[in-house]
Amino acid sequence: MQKRVECECGWSLQTDDEAKLVAGVQQHAKQIHNMEGVTKDQVLAQARPA
Ligand SMILES: [Zn+2]
Repeated sequence: MQKRVECECGWSLQTDDEAKLVAGVQQHAKQIHNMEGVTKDQVLAQARPA
């Protein structure tokens, strides 16, 4: 199932690979928002079916 995460800055990521979704959001958070330590659970809590 495709899942989509949208960031408050307008960036979004959609994939059916949960590991890629988590890794992509973690990378975005770190690079763009200087947020370290975003957890898998936090990412999945933001994810919506797409
Ligand atoms: Zn963002």
